[in-house]
Amino acid sequence: MLYVSTRAGQAAATQTPQQFSDILLGGLAPDGGLYLPSEYPQVSGAELDAWRKLSYADLAFEILRKFATDIPEADLKKLCKKTYTADVYRNARKGEKAAEITPLRVLEKDGDKTLILQALSNGPTLAFKDMAMQLLGNLFEYTLAKNKAELNIFGATSGDTGSAAEYAMRGKKGIRVFMLSPHKKMSAFQSAQMFSLQDPNIFNVAVEGVFDDCQDMVKAVSNDLPFKAAQKIGTVNSINWARVVAQVVYYFRGYLAATADNTQKVSFTVPSGNFGNICAGHIARMMGLPIDRLVAATNENDVLDEFFRTGVYRVRKSSETYHTSSPSMDISKASNFERFVYDLVGRDGERVRALFHKVETEGGFDLSGKPGSDGDEFKLVSEYGFVSGKSTHKDRLDTIRDVADDYDITIDTHTADGIKVARQYMAPGVPMIVLETALAAKFNETILDALGVDAERPAGFENIESLPQKFIVMPADVAKMKTYIAANTGL
Ligand SMILES: *Cc1c(COP(=O)(O)O)cnc(C)c1O
Repeated sequence: MLYVSTRAGQAAATQTPQQFSDILLGGLAPDGGLYLPSEYPQVSGAELDAWRKLSYADLAFEILRKFATDIPEADLKKLCKKTYTADVYRNARKGEKAAEITPLRVLEKDGDKTLILQALSNGPTLAFKDMAMQLLGNLFEYTLAKNKAELNIFGATSGDTGSAAEYAMRGKKGIRVFMLSPHKKMSAFQSAQMFSLQDPNIFNVAVEGVFDDCQDMVKAVSNDLPFKAAQKIGTVNSINWARVVAQVVYYFRGYLAATADNTQKVSFTVPSGNFGNICAGHIARMMGLPIDRLVAATNENDVLDEFFRTGVYRVRKSSETYHTSSPSMDISKASNFERFVYDLVGRDGERVRALFHKVETEGGFDLSGKPGSDGDEFKLVSEYGFVSGKSTHKDRLDTIRDVADDYDITIDTHTADGIKVARQYMAPGVPMIVLETALAAKFNETILDALGVDAERPAGFENIESLPQKFIVMPADVAKMKTYIAANTGL
């Protein structure tokens, strides 16, 4: 299996296709595009039948071996078995089996309309990012050891991604994590989750500023190429291909658990921000998984909903990006969207390059086919199953209340965006699976507003705010940051 850049056109034919391990530790392709397999591996009906009986870890292995063809299969199997255990994904609700890793829960069966929740948030940080990040931690450790290399992950977080990365990389040989977060701007729960890690390879830096200041520091350091090379600096952001492919697994799992045979179809609703999660659903569908619809649910930051309604992709300025009660979906542009656009325009890298050049220069593009637009591919979107909807703060509160009343469980704000939009697209005979992307305990402030009681915390999280914390406070000063990194890597 070889990987190509979404921007590699005829002129770039000299660009060498890459193996899975070559792109594992990197981010963007050198031409600024994102990596995708040169073609999607196909899954047969016989394979799907055989996969129904597999454990999550074995299913992950069967899917990943189609993409990570340069990792010896015995090693890959070991990595999957080490990652997807009931112990790692231990935070299942009462009545859910942790060993299923992403257990399904039927919320409603009304005639032939079925609404199902698939729990993806039972990992160490209570959000779906653990599904991929835990595997990434093990893949990184394995690859670095093989190449006798080391890696210093440097990033900025306003919440979920940073903590998922730290819990995936803690204690791993050859890896250090330097994670910036805005000082006193995260919730008490979120900072406690990160700062209570005492592992010597985890470095939490609370920056005196806002999230944008943290991100600017990461950019400034990453733009200093000699420093970046000398300090072996890398990232684990959402465009990382291995993260996307690890997420493909739970679409197969959800489908297989919700159906009895392969003549059936299901739809998925996905609370979306950077389009990483739902991009994995698109890939599963392209591999032949019988998915009817892929429903992108956004909050007030509706970049994606606008595209799937109108064919216009318009990124937002920071002044137009809202801070909402589903903060992990507060995005101004959807960084993985380019992967879908590549397929939509017939895998034409030159077109993709031109369209995303327009995003940089003019803030967007228009595929509606209207006079003066950049193309008419919007008419093909429905063939890919995509539809969308959006939700507001009030919708979230109402949905959290309804779900508590009707089904007796508490859902988080992002999942509430999903359920709200899923209800618009329920179809007879096609179960609708909503991906649960976080547990309510992470966003307790809004749960209190909606229900008047605290969200239940999984065992082990009761006193997280009172655990000893390890972090340093630093002004938004790039030179200081570099000194701190170099002092701690010893490179
Ligand atoms: C990251 C995140 C999302 C958005 O996922 P994307 O892959 O960026 O679309 C949704 N919900 C939660 C809780 C998240 O942490």
